[in-house]
Amino acid sequence: METNSHDKDCVKVAVNIRPLITTELLLGCTDCVTVVPGEPQVQIGSHVFTFDHVYGSSGSPCGVIYEDCVAPLVDALFHGYNATVLAYGQTGSGKTYTMGTNYTGEANSGGIIPKVIETIFSRIGDMKDNVEFLIRVAFIELNDDIGDDILCAKLHLVDLAGSNALLNGEPMVYALKEGIHINKGLLALGNVISALGDDKKRKEGGHVPYRDSKLTRLLQDSLGGNSKTVMIACVSPADSNAEETLNTLKYANRAR
Ligand code: ADP
Ligand code: MG
Repeated sequence: METNSHDKDCVKVAVNIRPLITTELLLGCTDCVTVVPGEPQVQIGSHVFTFDHVYGSSGSPCGVIYEDCVAPLVDALFHGYNATVLAYGQTGSGKTYTMGTNYTGEANSGGIIPKVIETIFSRIGDMKDNVEFLIRVAFIELNDDIGDDILCAKLHLVDLAGSNALLNGEPMVYALKEGIHINKGLLALGNVISALGDDKKRKEGGHVPYRDSKLTRLLQDSLGGNSKTVMIACVSPADSNAEETLNTLKYANRAR
């Protein structure tokens, strides 16, 4: 079994397996990814991986992912923690669907981002205390110019470019240790998450290589330290995508 025993509450890894889509069915693709019943385990070929959560193709509404993985981060945000939700996976694996980046305004259309926004505003609306809120939304990080009596927290919601595509123009590299092809940003992200999860390294004040890529520099204050991260690996169950799916699962497994 391919697991590693890092105990890291600050980083959780979930896998979301979407159903076969019409084009895959028309091409005669079959389902090659199995979820071990009752366990957060995924099997593909001879590989078995264990994650914090696994959502199977047999229909796990985004609401469940939200409650398990994202609601605790939104709650932490109100206590001053920074947080990051990252969707990762090959093109067509369901990142946009999962994050809700394609939200068009229909009620209950699912997806994490609309649910986050709804939760933040309804929570603020319910506040009885005399507290003022300032919410800023940005596609790129803003500079802070803020006093001491203010609790400031940042939530990054990231729909990463496909693992098989270029990210920030960064070239694909071969990660020898994992035996996978990924782009430089994702490699650096994996290194950061892995360094953060290495308790021993962290206690010894070990080096966390934030500066190795644009992605990790951008997310620096929302990864590690006073922050919580959820990585959602999105995969297609189609046998035609087996290689990329295994690639994604190996990468996600390393982050754990
Ligand atoms: P990505 O953003 O990773 O490229 P998309 O989110 O665009 O992938 O998903 C690719 C296709 O799969 C879309 O047609 C989308 O509607 C469909 N899809 C993704 N996830 C699901 C799901 N959980 N249930 C049903 N269809 C899905
Ligand atoms: Mg997309």
